Amino acid sequence: MSTGANFADFKSDKKPTWCPGCGDFGTMNGILKALSNTGATPENTFFVAGIGCSGKIGTYVRTYSIHGVHGRALPVGCGAKIANPNLEVMVAGGDGDGFSIGAAHFIHAVRRNVNMTYIVMDNRIYGLTKGQYSPTSGTDLKTNTSPSGTHMPPLDPLALALSSQGTFIAQAFSSDLKRLIEILEAAINHNGFAFVNVFSPCVTYNKVDTYQYFRDTLVDVDDIGHDPADYEAAKKLIFDHETEYQGILYQNPNSISYEDSHGL
Ligand code: SF4
Repeated sequence: MSTGANFADFKSDKKPTWCPGCGDFGTMNGILKALSNTGATPENTFFVAGIGCSGKIGTYVRTYSIHGVHGRALPVGCGAKIANPNLEVMVAGGDGDGFSIGAAHFIHAVRRNVNMTYIVMDNRIYGLTKGQYSPTSGTDLKTNTSPSGTHMPPLDPLALALSSQGTFIAQAFSSDLKRLIEILEAAINHNGFAFVNVFSPCVTYNKVDTYQYFRDTLVDVDDIGHDPADYEAAKKLIFDHETEYQGILYQNPNSISYEDSHGL
């Protein structure tokens, strides 16, 4: 469905200050294209951004937007949607913002199942503060704060969402724009809280989780005949830590949103 708002209508006149080549460019373009494809309009869309490089997205969109407090973008988004269920609420932030200080909010936003979309631009490092390890950094990733590696297993956002009773759990890649747009459209159309973890490489500080790495390793769940409504199959893929997947890992076809259950 389209209401006449196109991709350009969602873009502000501010020039992004992201480093050339940053994955956040592709992710933002995917979000704005998905919004226009699903019939959203700038005046009916509310964007909540987290803190970090990815959090700058709120300045680059021409919708209502707010720059949330670190780790607290989700409760702002939940509150806005509950107050005005007609709004298209999009929350976007990074892995540091969402899975470190924001981890508890993430868990409860997932189980609350408010009808909104949460996009994490996951680059597996803190970019804005110049290259410290984040919750999703790999065990061997050498950074300013982990000179010999983190010596910790990375947090698994998809598993955390599944164990929090998530009803839409997906993963995408900023450089595979066609697939990213498809996944984000499904997320926006989902009845409930839709979580999309988007690999958005940090070309400046993370020399391991690069564009080439994701091109070489990502397996699309559609190519292996995965049915996102099959919970047991989804669980198997999500807990397979040997393989990186993109696509809709899990979608509960009987999702009952917060708005449904509260008569909003
Ligand atoms: Fe992107 Fe990394 Fe530059 Fe931040 S530091 S804008 S995440 S490339």
